[in-house]
Amino acid sequence: MYLSLVVPCMNEEDGIDTLVTRLSAITAQWHQRAEIILVDDGSTDGTWSAIEQASQQCSQIVGIKLSANRGHQIALTAGLEAAKGERIMMLDADLQDPPELMTDMMFMMDRGFDVVYGRRAERLGETMFKRATAHMFYRVLNAMSDIDIPRDTGDFRLVNRKTLDAVLEMPERARFIRGMFAWAGFKQVGIEYIRAPRETGETKYPLRKMIRFSVDAMTAFSTKPLKLATRLSFVSLFIASMMAIYVFRSLILFQTAPGWASVILAVSFFSGVQLLTLGILGEYVGRLYVEAKKRPLYFVSEETRDAMPIATKMSA
Ligand code: UDP
Ligand code: MG
Repeated sequence: MYLSLVVPCMNEEDGIDTLVTRLSAITAQWHQRAEIILVDDGSTDGTWSAIEQASQQCSQIVGIKLSANRGHQIALTAGLEAAKGERIMMLDADLQDPPELMTDMMFMMDRGFDVVYGRRAERLGETMFKRATAHMFYRVLNAMSDIDIPRDTGDFRLVNRKTLDAVLEMPERARFIRGMFAWAGFKQVGIEYIRAPRETGETKYPLRKMIRFSVDAMTAFSTKPLKLATRLSFVSLFIASMMAIYVFRSLILFQTAPGWASVILAVSFFSGVQLLTLGILGEYVGRLYVEAKKRPLYFVSEETRDAMPIATKMSA
């Protein structure tokens, strides 16, 4: 059984050593039949040299350096495309997802599941804000989207070749990988685990990126927000007709007061609704535009696969 572990890394220089130690302890069980793919997503620190060093020391390690920062989901895609294993596990570089869970995941896969994903029963060492927003995100996403995306799961999962190939056939740029696996179907099962705090470094998902990620997820898996626009327009039409009745009544009763407040209210409400609707349309149009360009998702600038040890390189 050939196994691939895929890890996207961005500015994780302090974590690479621990990561490699923990991962190779696991792959040791598979001897030469395993690879650890570390994708450097345009890091600005020493992540790439740490990866290069690790790959010189351990032949199982494959380093892939992207030409620029393309974001977590695309870095992960780059790693998945490079993976040669029959079973592929993806996890974060910060070891928040315990790689040791793989034994259990393997066990479930042996019993016929195509995808075994980790479900976070608890999150340690993350701020209240992060936990609350993540909790909300998965619930809103499920209410909004047309497919059932498992709640509280990240990209921590073990998949087999069949499922991975299916997902890699999806060419979209706005990649929401956990949703793509859910959409792909096949036999899936979740395993609960407790999400550890980050080993080193800090989160690479500040609020700004979290919002972009959520909007990507919503628009990639649902057209409901577009329908929301229609619904909102019904609501505003209803309110407008109520106001019309009020205006007529005032006219008939000769109570035509200056009416400043109602005008301001009506104007701000309707312009708000219009802007929101336009915004939703814009999100989709923008994505259509980006997808239509069909640019490659990433470029690899360096790779350590099958790299010769430095000594041989110099004598060659
Ligand atoms: N990451 C990446 N590119 C980015 C942002 C993050 O490759 O632009 C990697 C990061 O190095 C980590 C994983 O994606 O391995 C998840 O990021 P992080 O742990 O910061 O997210 P969180 O756990 O806080 O949601
Ligand atoms: Mg993390």
